[in-house]
Amino acid sequence: MPEIIHLLPDNIANQIAAGEVIQRPASVVKELVENAVDAGAQKIELHVKDAGKTLIQVIDDGKGMSEMDARMSFERHATSKITSAKDLFQLTTKGFRGEALASIAAIAHVEMDTVEKDAKIGTKIQIEGSKLKSQEPSTRLRGTSISVKNLFFNVPARRNFLKSDNIETKHITEEFERIALTHPEVAFVFSHNNNIIYNLESANLRKRIVDLYGKGFNTKLVPIEEETDLVKIYGFIVKPEFSRKTRGEQFLFVNHRFFKDNYLHHAISSAYENLISNKEYPSYFIFFEVTPDTIDVNIHPTKTEIKFQHEKSIYPILRSTVRSALGKYNISPSLDFEHEPQFDLSQEVLKQPVRQPEIKVNTNYNPFKDTSTSSQEKPLSPSLKPNKQEWEDFYKITEEAKVEQPTEIEFEEKQDNNSLKIQVHKKFLLTQVKSGLLLVHIPRANERILYETLMEQYMRHPISSQQLLFPYEYQLQATQKLEWENNKTIIQRLGFEWEWNGNMLVLGSIPSILEVENTAQCIDNILNKITFTEIDKGEIVHELIVSLAAATSKNSNKILSQEEMSYLIETLFQYEQHQYSPSGKRIINTITLDELNNFLSL
Ligand code: ADP
Ligand code: MG
Repeated sequence: MPEIIHLLPDNIANQIAAGEVIQRPASVVKELVENAVDAGAQKIELHVKDAGKTLIQVIDDGKGMSEMDARMSFERHATSKITSAKDLFQLTTKGFRGEALASIAAIAHVEMDTVEKDAKIGTKIQIEGSKLKSQEPSTRLRGTSISVKNLFFNVPARRNFLKSDNIETKHITEEFERIALTHPEVAFVFSHNNNIIYNLESANLRKRIVDLYGKGFNTKLVPIEEETDLVKIYGFIVKPEFSRKTRGEQFLFVNHRFFKDNYLHHAISSAYENLISNKEYPSYFIFFEVTPDTIDVNIHPTKTEIKFQHEKSIYPILRSTVRSALGKYNISPSLDFEHEPQFDLSQEVLKQPVRQPEIKVNTNYNPFKDTSTSSQEKPLSPSLKPNKQEWEDFYKITEEAKVEQPTEIEFEEKQDNNSLKIQVHKKFLLTQVKSGLLLVHIPRANERILYETLMEQYMRHPISSQQLLFPYEYQLQATQKLEWENNKTIIQRLGFEWEWNGNMLVLGSIPSILEVENTAQCIDNILNKITFTEIDKGEIVHELIVSLAAATSKNSNKILSQEEMSYLIETLFQYEQHQYSPSGKRIINTITLDELNNFLSL
């Protein structure tokens, strides 16, 4: 019987291996840029076309390769970085597996042009699908240039599996930023479709962060530093008042490698406890140095998890390092989110922080459980009455809204609309209905009303906008800018007008309904929607209007008059969807007479 087992030809073996190392254009970017860093480059250029589907080119001024090494570099397990297993425990380079170039060459058209330092003649090699197409001398003066074209040309399944250009570009940008942060001493250029996205000069870490994420960061950063036998920790954390609703800049590096670690992330967020709300994310750029043999480096190239031997001991060190840095920089130890200043309608309060304190929603809230605070409420005090005109304006546009026929049960509830309404903690409205008590969550009700109004407007014509006296500036990340521009027509229809200053969004107009002090919140909401979720195209308008309505109804926790409360309820009940806010939270509920009786018979 003939043997049936045989060795796979190299090109097939490489193609299979490539599937693991190179999953998307961003993996190629990571491998090539890391190779350039390993080659000691001082300046690295990354040029990408069509999200890397057409071209990924990395040019460096590093040490280059000899003719022989240039050929060898495409062999599987060919590396100059380790020679024996014990080197694995002393790694100072990014690469060591010798797989990347072989993998890339197996599934793309690759051209390498390289010259060894001080050599007169360089080498140019073309490889397609692991096959050498040409090799010739080159006149290159220094370093290496590698171009990768037609990625996955011979793996159609993989090529078809790639996501939209935006998403692939986002992945590329992410990889790029991680390496740029790890090596601030190296200068970088990154262009996409001939547009320069980043042009970063050699710098220290603080400057690199600022160059990547905007000038504003300079004042937001708090340095951290700690050194123990186990670990050296350094880097920056971002002051709590600049936390975002979006999981933005959270970076951990160990021995100059980016990694993700939920456990250590928890140590950091717990140090921010009471300083930010639980819906916000602290930003940080934290570097760990440990002796190389205490982490498992033999990780998969595309994975970002790293095993720490002393993770349990590092946790408390990290937490207290962050905590004491926050303390040292005189950051108030506790912001009390429960505390609502009595009259925070004042302009001062509204102007203060870019980020408004979150309304803490207690879903188990029962207005009958706690009587001790009710005496503090003075909803009827004349001095607290809001400006009537203001409220009329606030609601004026709702008159344009389409009126939905209320269903029967709701109608029954509405009939008692003349009865007294009580505002509880400014947030809830309590009134008698036929079946018992009606409880309304006021901010959510406002959000629903605003949403319906805005949607109605949007459908008919662009939402009216107000021109700003002073342009409002907001720093975006490169990927966020891309997403913003991608949704340009919708965002314009919402009433925004803008220009760019680099990655700085310069808003000339904002929707009339939006207050300037809520603009940051609104942009955050929008960015959150367009950059972090893959929204169905049909849903995007809905999502963005939810974002706008949520930011606009932010300050709606004012003291309301009886008429205003009646108006609120009436308007709300016009809409079919009056039970839930556009973001899916319950607005109203009734407590029946039976429930009230039961409650008191306990
Ligand atoms: P690894 O980085 O794991 O060693 P790679 O397949 O990425 O494996 O690269 C193989 C080898 O090719 C490297 O070890 C290095 O010697 C050489 N090499 C790759 N890219 C460059 C570059 N830009 N400059 C100089 N040498 C390079
Ligand atoms: Mg490598």
